[in-house]
Amino acid sequence: MTAPAAMIEVTDLRKEFGSFVALDDVSLEIREGEFFSLLGPSGCGKTTLLRLIAGFQEPTAGTIAISGESMAGVPPNKRPTNMVFQSYAIFPHLDVRSNVAYGLKRLKLPPEEVASRVARALEIVDLKGLESRQATQLSGGQRQRVALARALILKPKVLLLDEPLSALDKALRELMQVELRTLQRSVGITFVLVTHDQHEALAMSDRIAVMFGGRIAQVATPRELYEAPASRQVAAFIGGMNFLNADLTGTANGTMRFAAEAIGEVEIQSGAGCDPSRFAGKKIVLGVRPERLRIMADKPLEGAAIGGTLTGATYFGESTYYYVTVPGRAQPIIVSAANGNGAQNFSEGAAVHITWDAAALVPLV
Ligand code: ATP
Repeated sequence: MTAPAAMIEVTDLRKEFGSFVALDDVSLEIREGEFFSLLGPSGCGKTTLLRLIAGFQEPTAGTIAISGESMAGVPPNKRPTNMVFQSYAIFPHLDVRSNVAYGLKRLKLPPEEVASRVARALEIVDLKGLESRQATQLSGGQRQRVALARALILKPKVLLLDEPLSALDKALRELMQVELRTLQRSVGITFVLVTHDQHEALAMSDRIAVMFGGRIAQVATPRELYEAPASRQVAAFIGGMNFLNADLTGTANGTMRFAAEAIGEVEIQSGAGCDPSRFAGKKIVLGVRPERLRIMADKPLEGAAIGGTLTGATYFGESTYYYVTVPGRAQPIIVSAANGNGAQNFSEGAAVHITWDAAALVPLV
């Protein structure tokens, strides 16, 4: 099977606002039919990158090509892109049908074609039957669907979405995440989503670019990002993680040995991306996700384990975060335990043990 063709190619992109550098040396390739997210904290440059792809701003340096064609000097309405904004910009004085048909106006199509395309677009976003509703009589989720239908009806090659769900409440946002993902699969259009919400990016994307300070830190699938983050900064941004200070004490036969706080000597396979030269002379930590640790009352008969005291717990319903204070480390180690059938509960002050598999430890700088 051949890899899907590149839909968007961004090369050495730079954007300055006066003396401020909003994007620096950004290169990335977004594939045809991909659901791609730009994820990062506020101010990292993700909206700027989206606006450059849309053509609302021109880069200071570097190039953007869509479908193999350079976008230099091409205005937004001549690009094969369409944008859906956070504040779903729909016309309050128009009904649903007219809002969705609006984008087709300048194409001067026969009325029958407009009617059938509007009907199809409303079907895709599940708004059939609401054609005559005024925009002011719609819920937030319905308004966002109108905005999506209005963008999709123009059949763009690329749909650019700038925090499209952030104005919705949590339950509706989660529902719309699933719907948007299903919709993207069914229409096959390349989606580029800007979000600062890691759960949203993980749940919806084929691949994610994580950005900090105008630069791309890592581009990977959700699973790779979570399980093999490229740096401590990426690991800290995506989900919870314990960081144990460590020193590299030796390498041999494809393994690296570390001396780490709290857990002592460990041996880790130096697989792909774990080249020992990455760590030379750097401040190293071993990252371990709370759910990759196990908490138990008794010391296990075999395998690595450390003893500690339970100093706190946070109950999340499906799981509980336990905070365990251990010798040799100032902050407690966080262990996540699922609250499934037969799950054991631990009370504050209890003596407990933590165990792990070496594969759960990720060396990071
Ligand atoms: P958020 O999640 O808060 O929207 P973001 O990652 O999308 O953040 P951008 O909107 O891309 O961030 O902004 C990146 C940086 O560039 C910010 O520091 C912002 O203040 C700055 N910036 C963006 N647009 C302009 C502009 N027109 N003039 C000057 N500075 C700008």
